[in-house]
Amino acid sequence: MPVEEVRRYAHEVADWIADYLASVGDLPVFPEIAPGDLGRQLGPLSEEGEPFSEILAEFDRVILPATTHWNHPRFHAWFAVSGSGPGILAEAIVAALNLNGMVWRAGPSVTELEEHVVAHLARALGLPPGWTGSINDTASISTLHALAAARHVAFPDATDRGLAGSPPGRVYASCEAHSSVDRAVMALGMGREGIVRLPRDRDHLLDVGALRSAIRSDREAGHRPVAVVATLGTTSTTSLDPVDAMARVAREAGVWLHVDAAYGGALALLPEWRNAFRGWEKADSIVFNPHKWLFTPIDCSVLWVRGRDRLRAAFAVDAEYLRTAESGRATDLMEYGIALGRRFRALKLWFVLRYFGLEGIRRRLRHHIELARSLAGTIEETEGWSVRVHGEMGLIVFRATAGGKDGAGVEGALNRAIVDRVARSGVALLSHTELDGTVWIRLAVGNLRTTAEDLEITWSAVCAAREACLVELPGVNW
Ligand code: PLP
Repeated sequence: MPVEEVRRYAHEVADWIADYLASVGDLPVFPEIAPGDLGRQLGPLSEEGEPFSEILAEFDRVILPATTHWNHPRFHAWFAVSGSGPGILAEAIVAALNLNGMVWRAGPSVTELEEHVVAHLARALGLPPGWTGSINDTASISTLHALAAARHVAFPDATDRGLAGSPPGRVYASCEAHSSVDRAVMALGMGREGIVRLPRDRDHLLDVGALRSAIRSDREAGHRPVAVVATLGTTSTTSLDPVDAMARVAREAGVWLHVDAAYGGALALLPEWRNAFRGWEKADSIVFNPHKWLFTPIDCSVLWVRGRDRLRAAFAVDAEYLRTAESGRATDLMEYGIALGRRFRALKLWFVLRYFGLEGIRRRLRHHIELARSLAGTIEETEGWSVRVHGEMGLIVFRATAGGKDGAGVEGALNRAIVDRVARSGVALLSHTELDGTVWIRLAVGNLRTTAEDLEITWSAVCAAREACLVELPGVNW
């Protein structure tokens, strides 16, 4: 593409982006589409190439209508996120640079900005010196890397000889820990049996006594404890594991402690939340996703490790063609994970942190919490609804009740049907979870453009969906 054409279409795309951000709230959050609809509309690849204007027009006509709008102010499913202006613009520059920071020489800026930005972010989150970070695509990969380092500590021979003939490894996490922990344990050769899910105590906190006795009895049975995983901000309910007490148990047992703060970590920026994080600084590794509640476009996941050589040791390989004159004197990012190639993810994080400023981010996080708490109050006051999580971390977990006139299965179906009906209305997008056999609706507030009015619109859509579902659900005598 000639540079002048790049310039012309860059202006057009810039207008497209600005128009999109200005009007995304008018689009259906989830499109009217069924599986396979888009695939059927897409033609064969062209042999001769096509004008950019035609590709852009087809994108608008065919691809955009098949899009779920994560940047919509009424996107409340899973965790609500924001691709903010500074992050979007940084991504455009990253694409133009097309850097691959696998080793320092391949990208001094990738390497050194990444080290700089994650070190300053760690300080802003209240972590003491001694932590070194790197950026991965997702928390799933960050956790895989952290547990690979833990496995290397527990089984130092495994990187050479594999795990055959070794005692079974065990990783301990709460029953609410994210499924990425299971996947990492499976991928690291410890099998599904390698993860020990711990119950909660009467205060709904991970039972630290159960953790201590599980480690003890596993040792007696000849198993090898590898890591304890504490979650600060669980996916279903944003609950906080008692990380300080877990750190004590892990330290006594000589076991790696990994903290999954993929979502909740943002709140460590707020002084009033610091207490909830007390003890996480004793961990061996921490994951936090700026692409969740730090307004950074997907993907961006920071993994901090204390004593980063332990991470490097888990991935050490010798490849002559990757040596440079700076090898051994400079950081080569490829040494800290599976991927050789590294995108310039630090640039968007740096743009976002500089543009909003730490205080600006704090204000916005507090605003999200205020919005969520206020809606949770409204839901709680409305007959026919019950609230389990009140928006303390931007997430509301609630459900429609049916006045005891129904069976548990019907109530579960009702709540699932409400989530689906709201999605199909296009007005908002919610998600659901199941806790102790009960279905709950999750409504997350975390997009920069969400206003109190958006939440009123969402709540009206939810109430209307409940009315409609009550009429439609078969076999229910209301
Ligand atoms: N950990 C927690 C607590 C999460 O909520 C999630 C996703 O929502 C993850 C890990 C996985 O995140 P990713 O999609 O970046 O792998």
